[in-house]
Amino acid sequence: MLLSEFPPVALRIFAALLGLVWGSFLNVVIHRVPRGMSVMRPASHCPACQAPIVAYRNIPVVAWLVLRGRAACCGVRISVRYPLVEAIGGVLSVAVLEMLVLALPPETPALHALMIYIAHFALVLGLVAAAFIDLEYMFIPDAISVGGALLGLATSPIRELPWTDSLLGGLVGFIIVWLPFEVIYSKFRGKPGMGRGDAKLTMLAGAWLGIPGALFVLGGAAVQGTLATLVVVLSGKQLTEPEAITREREELHRELDQMSEDERAEVLRELALDPLADEPERGFGKARIAFGPFLILAILECLFLGKERILGWLWVG
Ligand SMILES: [Zn+2]
Repeated sequence: MLLSEFPPVALRIFAALLGLVWGSFLNVVIHRVPRGMSVMRPASHCPACQAPIVAYRNIPVVAWLVLRGRAACCGVRISVRYPLVEAIGGVLSVAVLEMLVLALPPETPALHALMIYIAHFALVLGLVAAAFIDLEYMFIPDAISVGGALLGLATSPIRELPWTDSLLGGLVGFIIVWLPFEVIYSKFRGKPGMGRGDAKLTMLAGAWLGIPGALFVLGGAAVQGTLATLVVVLSGKQLTEPEAITREREELHRELDQMSEDERAEVLRELALDPLADEPERGFGKARIAFGPFLILAILECLFLGKERILGWLWVG
């Protein structure tokens, strides 16, 4: 069976539906993983009143629109993040098909095309989950960053990236964030300027896109992150850290008050190394924003537009 034997329209519809359904599952991941809950059990239930959600009210995007953003059970407001993540799942699934699978030569074996689709679809799903988790909690689960890097290494042969390029890319990707922002920055400021999670994301970028890709992803994320910060600041909005981080810190301080002398000394030693432990400073450049979503945006750009094309635009014009 060859790729050209499948009608593209049918493939597009299938990819869109699959993306919406998996987008719906991503909402479960984004809600439960940071809370240490299982993504398999229990089945979907209302976050407010715990009532189970019947299947037809779980239809991606449509259910949210029909119910006007409220839960059918108790009428609690459901965040626009839910249909948004579902829609992103659908769009990215079609993008993987369109840009990475249908771009393959027509004589490509169907099985090979399917493997290319699955590998990239799994990657983009993981990245979307990581972006939303990082926005809310300022951390990136290892299962996604390290797991994604290993997936990149494992799939390098079918992606026509020599495995040595993938391995070196991952290594260099990790070092370009870890060395300057963790090792060197810590020497001067006492604690790292970027989390280890960001280093693991650039490692993922390198494992999928090689050394040039990792460099583009770090540079592209820095430029786009700076632009986004500028836009927010110029529009007169105050940059604030995510609520969950503030809440966590307040809780920790309450717990500290109740600890014994020894326990407290131990926890304070650990906190000294945590970049999120202090109250954020005010002012541009001091703002505490998640960098992960910008790295992820740059990875998606590189993946879909192709690093050759992007580097071509940048170097040759
Ligand atoms: Zn409810």
